Amino acid sequence: MHDKKTIEDINVSGKKVLVRCDFNVPLEDGRITDDNRIVGALPTIKYLLGQKAKIILCSHMGRPKGEFNMKYTLAPVAKRLSELLNTTVTLAADVIGDDAVAKATALKEGEILLLENVRFHKEEEKNDAEFSKKLASLAEIYVNDAFGTAHRAHASTAGVADYMPAVCGYLIQKEIDIMGKALSEPKRPFVAILGGAKVSDKIGVINNLIEKVDSLIIGGAMAYTFDKALGGKIGKSLCEIDKLDMAKELLEKAENKGVKFLLPVDTICAKEFANDTEQAVFPTQQIPEEWMGLDIGPETIKLFSEELKNAGTVVWNGPMGVFEFDNFAKGTKAVAEAVAASGAISIIGGGDSAAAVEKFGLADKITHISTGGGASLEFLEGLVLPGIACLNDK
Ligand code: AMP
Repeated sequence: MHDKKTIEDINVSGKKVLVRCDFNVPLEDGRITDDNRIVGALPTIKYLLGQKAKIILCSHMGRPKGEFNMKYTLAPVAKRLSELLNTTVTLAADVIGDDAVAKATALKEGEILLLENVRFHKEEEKNDAEFSKKLASLAEIYVNDAFGTAHRAHASTAGVADYMPAVCGYLIQKEIDIMGKALSEPKRPFVAILGGAKVSDKIGVINNLIEKVDSLIIGGAMAYTFDKALGGKIGKSLCEIDKLDMAKELLEKAENKGVKFLLPVDTICAKEFANDTEQAVFPTQQIPEEWMGLDIGPETIKLFSEELKNAGTVVWNGPMGVFEFDNFAKGTKAVAEAVAASGAISIIGGGDSAAAVEKFGLADKITHISTGGGASLEFLEGLVLPGIACLNDK
């Protein structure tokens, strides 16, 4: 990927700047329960305020299915943003309608306008050219700072870039810098940890990472597909039967490349999918018929932790077991602790592994927790992200 221009590479002062943010925050009864994503957008907004730009923010929230549905209004975001910035953030009543146009036209230097939820228009997710053009006509410069939607080619994440200079904000710049550097010039040994439910979701990532890492650690339910492919007994554990050949191919590829492929050596099992239930530890590939694997076992924790001790770079995506059940969270917790203690440059893909690290209070010991689950997976897969590709090269 080429180096992309950032807000510091372009003159924004006095200009109308459209900033795509990710304000898709969790709400309960209209109250924001976690404002991390809003806080994450502050560096870019503060820079633009300092440059006396006329700031027009936009974002999606939830899935309003292309209709104006006030259940998904950005009003709570406007309020929280005002509080955090200690300045007025005006909410437009629409996205490209009369109110948005009037308010954007009247905007003065250092003022902030937040457009309503871009997904109130079905054209947003279709990346409709007319809609993109109209949205773009509100501003003179486009800044994308929404990494969480950068893997989507939507009007506000990519389409608008056809009509004006387009650069990245600090949040996207940080994601590209840290993850890009880890992939292109990692401090070695480079260890990747992949877990979670399905190997099918992560085949692309495994394929790409095998080209780059020194060791690949596999945990979570996806390990059983590899165990089965190796001829092991996995009982009632989750398995993707149609992916056995692919699993074999990945194992062979790792061997050919000289990449260490670490699978669990023991497994904590249960007879039912529940937190409060009888547990037993079995050696991997020897799980009796009526049992299912729900977490990695104590020997595996030792093996994985040992591998992580000397790592220079660690990339982690996906839990080691059903960490939502406290009684099956030990493996995920131990791996989180080993990553935190390793002193390596540590990068955690969004989603469940990020939630796990937060839950165990280890977030501040991690170099970078990506703000986009799907987007970070696609980045690690080596795919082109439309929301980044559309930005101007340096
Ligand atoms: P993913 O979204 O693919 O990263 O998968 C995350 C989910 O995988 C979490 O909800 C975990 O509970 C689940 N998971 C991890 N290990 C297991 C397992 N051994 N059996 C069933 N589900 C698992």
